[in-house]
Amino acid sequence: MWGSPLSTLFLLLAVALLSWPIFGPTVALIVLVVGLLVLLSHHIYNLSLLFHWLRDPRAKTVPQGNGSWEYVFSYMQRLLKWQRNSELGLSKALERFQLAITAFPDAVVMLDDNDEIAWCNPKAETYFGLRATRDQGAQITNILRQPRFSAYLKSGDTSEPLNLRIVAEQGKRVVLIQLVPYGDSQKLLLGRDITRLDRLETTRRDFIANVSHELRTPLTVVHGYLETLRESQITDPDFLTNSVKLMSEQTARMNRLVEDLLTLSQLGNPMNAPVDEDINVPVLTQSLLEQAKALSGSRHKIRAQVQTQVWLKGSAEELRSAFENLVSNAVRYTPDGGTIGLIWEEIDGNPAFVVTDTGIGVDPVHLARLTERFYRVDKGRSRESGGTGLGLAIVKYIANRHQARLDIDSQPGSGSRFSLIFPASRVVAPPDQDTSSVVGLEQREGD
Ligand code: ADP
Repeated sequence: MWGSPLSTLFLLLAVALLSWPIFGPTVALIVLVVGLLVLLSHHIYNLSLLFHWLRDPRAKTVPQGNGSWEYVFSYMQRLLKWQRNSELGLSKALERFQLAITAFPDAVVMLDDNDEIAWCNPKAETYFGLRATRDQGAQITNILRQPRFSAYLKSGDTSEPLNLRIVAEQGKRVVLIQLVPYGDSQKLLLGRDITRLDRLETTRRDFIANVSHELRTPLTVVHGYLETLRESQITDPDFLTNSVKLMSEQTARMNRLVEDLLTLSQLGNPMNAPVDEDINVPVLTQSLLEQAKALSGSRHKIRAQVQTQVWLKGSAEELRSAFENLVSNAVRYTPDGGTIGLIWEEIDGNPAFVVTDTGIGVDPVHLARLTERFYRVDKGRSRESGGTGLGLAIVKYIANRHQARLDIDSQPGSGSRFSLIFPASRVVAPPDQDTSSVVGLEQREGD
């Protein structure tokens, strides 16, 4: 019955006009007035429905209405549903965004235009000692008390991001912070944990300093002799022979150092995985025994005990180098007359290559650092005996590459026991052969 408001009005006017010639002006006027009153009450009724609903506007309770109002109310209902859906979508997107930032591996703090904390993720709580609920609205400069940071914020010029290293959590962590402006005048404070990177950088710097230092001494010696020979007419054959001998010793030292450095760099290359070969360790032990005897020059009693016939899966070149380093250390750190043992055995089902000596031993305080590059208990003694300070570092690398463990048991003054213990998975059953020549082998220098 109710069309659009204008057409209803026109219809009413038309009826009044048509009734004028038929029923006269009075009737026409009455029709018009009555019609207008009905129309008005209809709109007032629907307006009151709208008024009531507006007090608690919910999509579910939108009034039905009638006439043109029916159309208005149903349109409002659609509009409300659409708004609700987009709100729902937005809050879901916001939730996903917050979840992503919460899982973000770096600290994120959102700052408002007054540099107050608007929101932060759990990593920011850990790095900066913040509490998301407690510190919301707090001035960030009260929490991050860094002069450069405060100056940057005060300057007002945040067009360029700020990078700053800070020590967080009572020195436990080094964090690189970055302040990035966004929006009108909000800022994003990002913090990345660079403790590992920082440590690596320190290690790299120390390593370069160590290598330079190790090379400087022999170079200075060689340089000194060359200068003396160049500047003076030395005819003394003894001096000349001695100079050449010392220079060649120093160059040999440099050569050893460079070789060890190259070995280390190859071992440290993750792309260079060790090859898996079947290694006849009993035979290798025999060969190392001969090598140890040559190195000792009959100054020690050297024995080899092969207590298991198993072979080992691994890189023959690397394992030989690791075993050689242990044997060479035993010879170099055992005074004349001492005893050295090379043992191939099984410890709790795990194959182990063990080198024992009755040498100078190591004080327990040094044990944890012994496999560090260039770590030496007695620098002078190590250098004198031709050490580079890299031997045990090489052994450790090789052990790791073969999932082996290096156990060091030592007593100052009474000797050491270095054991390379391999996982049982690296055991290889020896091929059928006559093993009597190696099983139970026990040799003694001078026997
Ligand atoms: P180096 O070239 O100095 O021998 P290594 O890395 O092989 O370097 O060994 C590091 C340090 O460990 C040595 O300087 C020495 O102090 C100590 N060390 C290693 N092996 C033994 C051992 N068998 N007896 C006593 N000390 C040892």
